[in-house]
Amino acid sequence: MKLTRPSGLTLLAGALLLLMPALAVLQFRWVGQVSDAEHERMQRNLDVAATQFRRDFEGELFGLQNLSVTAGTAREQQWDRYAQRYEEWSNITTHPGIVKNIYLVDSDGRQLGLRRWNTEEHVFELETGDWPASLEPWHGDFQAEFVDFNEGTSPDRTARFRDPDDQGSLLVYQLRFNPVVLPAPIGPTTPGSRPQRSVTVFGFTVVELDMAYIRQQLLPELAGRHFSHPSGDSYRIAVVDWDDPSKIIYRTDSDAPTDAAHADSATGLFARFGTLRQGRPPGQNDERPGALTGGRPGPPGQLDARTAVAGRAGGPDPARNQPARWRLMVQHQSGSLEAAVNGARTRNLALSFGVLLLLTFTIGLLTVTSRRAQQVAKQQMEFVAGVSHELRTPVAVIKSAAENLSQGVVGNPDRVKRYGKMIETEARRLGEMVERVLQYAGIESGLGYGARSPLSPSEVIESAVDSALPLLGPDAINIQRDIPEDLPAVVGDAAALRSVVQNLFMNAVKYGGTDRWVGIKAEHARDGRSHRVRITVSDHGAGIPANDLPHIFDPFYRGDDAMSRQIHGNGLGLSLVNRIVRAHGGTVSVRSREHEGTTFTITLPAEPMDPRPTAVHGDAPAAAH
Ligand code: ADP
Repeated sequence: MKLTRPSGLTLLAGALLLLMPALAVLQFRWVGQVSDAEHERMQRNLDVAATQFRRDFEGELFGLQNLSVTAGTAREQQWDRYAQRYEEWSNITTHPGIVKNIYLVDSDGRQLGLRRWNTEEHVFELETGDWPASLEPWHGDFQAEFVDFNEGTSPDRTARFRDPDDQGSLLVYQLRFNPVVLPAPIGPTTPGSRPQRSVTVFGFTVVELDMAYIRQQLLPELAGRHFSHPSGDSYRIAVVDWDDPSKIIYRTDSDAPTDAAHADSATGLFARFGTLRQGRPPGQNDERPGALTGGRPGPPGQLDARTAVAGRAGGPDPARNQPARWRLMVQHQSGSLEAAVNGARTRNLALSFGVLLLLTFTIGLLTVTSRRAQQVAKQQMEFVAGVSHELRTPVAVIKSAAENLSQGVVGNPDRVKRYGKMIETEARRLGEMVERVLQYAGIESGLGYGARSPLSPSEVIESAVDSALPLLGPDAINIQRDIPEDLPAVVGDAAALRSVVQNLFMNAVKYGGTDRWVGIKAEHARDGRSHRVRITVSDHGAGIPANDLPHIFDPFYRGDDAMSRQIHGNGLGLSLVNRIVRAHGGTVSVRSREHEGTTFTITLPAEPMDPRPTAVHGDAPAAAH
């Protein structure tokens, strides 16, 4: 096998193709790293959003401490002052609807009383009759608190109050104390001692939350604010009871997780009163909003201000895992953040590999195309060289004959006649060459063929043979015809089809045996409803060598034998035959046996009817070989 040195283009294409797997590996790793980073980023953002959700929610509840009645207001029953505070609160808050009722539990010194804030009249009206159902379960506790207050004892009820169960809608604030400042005693004061004492007043403000409003307005609004981005990822949200997750407070859809193990982010919501403090003397810090201290354990339901503001500076939120009344759980719409990131990763990888594959394919295609272009260019150069060579001989003969005639070298009329005949033959060969080149160029540039009409196959064959005979020299040709007259018509370009038969006939003579025998057969082939005409041209020549057979229909291809025997030709004949027959919807095949002969068969679609075919003799003369 002959080894050729690879061209620069082949080397470059090879190097690029080798680069592709390396790029694919790099891309795989890179996409993996990007996905991990993306996962981390999404997790961080989600945790921040969950914390922000909790802060906003608890911020709303934290603001309710402004609704707790101060001791002074309660003692002097100055409801105007309270009304002013209520007004201020409702102007500031974005969700005034979360408050359903405000109660004041106080006493006239002897027994417990219950008042309800009338938002129209701006007064705490004394409730006569039974306590409302929402407050009734705690009636006993308030009574016990009252007894303790009168006795000055402060038993720890924290544990009992910790689980309010159904009382989740109540926030209870101990009355805030107004310290009464007394003159400082004479003499040195101990550092840290405070020259004041307080007057205590028994009472609690109870804020009843509107749970329906929280479920239907506040939580959906917060979920929309923190977890839905018009162009980003969407999440499922669920708020469930901390201790019993089957108690669902709110969820965005039925697939939202109720189990923290399936959530991408979870946090406590509605902080418990986990920071109840005991034993601090009344009067200290008691003007601080939301002060929880007192001479006894704080009542249930109080929101710790410190919990609500914790973690505001960012970073891990310490309140995240602290027990709360509820738990907020967030899950990515695709099942989990991991699934979302993996999905994006698969898409990215598919896209990258798709691009790499496309690149590989393009490089392969470019290489093949450019190699083909190189081959065609080479063939065309060979063709031009071949045509020039073919033209040179007749031109030289014509030139010398014409010179001899013009210079009077030839005077004998017989010799003049021979010179004239020679010029005519060479001129015809020149014309045939030019015709063939023009026909090939016409087909190559897509100019197509002339008008199509129904043609008689026998007339096409006869006219092709008639026009070829003068070109084939004086020696007799033994033509064996088997052409029935009643063949169906074929539709096509008369001149083109004639040149097909002419080419095959002339090749049979050129490459045929010394007996100059050519067999031409035509037959009607029916296959179901389709009609065809099959034309075969055979010779008794040396046959086509097996290694030439796959190439004989390639343009410019000439067999070794044809070249070594210096048989005139340009390698375009069979290529033209093939193209013309295919353009007419037909096929060409060849059967050849070395030293026995060759048979070319063309099959053309025929008319089912038998319309009167038009004559082909009157058409433009066909290309001659
Ligand atoms: P050309 O005849 O000008 O060489 P063609 O395209 O007509 O070009 O034929 C291509 C080649 O096929 C020829 O060079 C020859 O080697 C081979 N060939 C064509 N017809 C025959 C035939 N009847 N017998 C043997 N070889 C043939």
